[in-house]
Amino acid sequence: MDDAPQATDQGHEGMSRRQLIRHTAWFGAAVVLTVSGGEVISHIGGISTAATPTVDPNALRFAQISDSHLGFTGAANTDVESSFSRAIDQVNALPDRPDFVVHSGDLTHLATDAQFDRAKQMMGGLRTGQVFTVPGEHDSIDDHGQKYRKRFGTGTRGDGWFSFDIKGVHVIGLVNTLSLEKLGHLGAAQLDFVRRDVAGLASDTPIVVFSHIPLFAMYPKWGWGTDDATEALSYLRRFASVTCLNGHVHQLFTKTEGNVTFYSATTTAYPLPKPGQAVAPTPVTLPAGKLSDALGIRDVTYLKGEHALAIRDRKLA
Ligand SMILES: [Zn+2]
Ligand SMILES: [Zn+2]
Repeated sequence: MDDAPQATDQGHEGMSRRQLIRHTAWFGAAVVLTVSGGEVISHIGGISTAATPTVDPNALRFAQISDSHLGFTGAANTDVESSFSRAIDQVNALPDRPDFVVHSGDLTHLATDAQFDRAKQMMGGLRTGQVFTVPGEHDSIDDHGQKYRKRFGTGTRGDGWFSFDIKGVHVIGLVNTLSLEKLGHLGAAQLDFVRRDVAGLASDTPIVVFSHIPLFAMYPKWGWGTDDATEALSYLRRFASVTCLNGHVHQLFTKTEGNVTFYSATTTAYPLPKPGQAVAPTPVTLPAGKLSDALGIRDVTYLKGEHALAIRDRKLA
């Protein structure tokens, strides 16, 4: 069970621990995960079954949106622009304005100038302090990410990676989609960046890492992993709290390995099959009316002094 999240049994009527673990790992649309004191607590149907912490006005708040695939045309979502627009509205309607919003890649489906311009324009409507992005493999189809960096690379280094500090948290954005064979790849220059970037930080600094492709082996057979992530994570081993947030897999999934917890985000565009439940990770067309349940946004709160971040996944309103 060490590859499954820990869950409390308290108050989950009618659900066995095993069922709950399956739900928390495999996204029930109505299941929300909160990580507090190292334990994953599940909130079912939006009703908290655990005491909600008092939210400190100095808490860090941010939102993650992912895999908007502007330009996709297919039965799985006939209007990706509309669902992306709803996701943006939902972020703007969060009870607390996020300090920043990150888009974790596949902003576009085919990396055209028009698709990038539309993505940039739409994200300009986010009500937040700052917007950050990491590219997906769909954002660098024909030019090694040049068009992406022209719009979204300002202030980044190398192929578009970056880091910054906010409210006591150190945030790192990584690019693992430019040299991919099958798995994601960071490369020597970026690994060196990570090593030097964290060298001067105190070990109790909470670390948040964004990448498009998971930094854990979610399902390597479909390329859902990063071949040199172990080295990057080795530089983060001494930190008490490391949270890695990714996109690419178009579904919620969480896993803890030692001091690191990984959270795959869902998409604003179309679902992909669960690992191994299809021949290939191709778009899944859901029955009419069901698509919004598979799409969503994520918001995150970090209270100073807490060990872990509170992660809340919300289905698309
Ligand atoms: Zn995607
Ligand atoms: Zn992707």
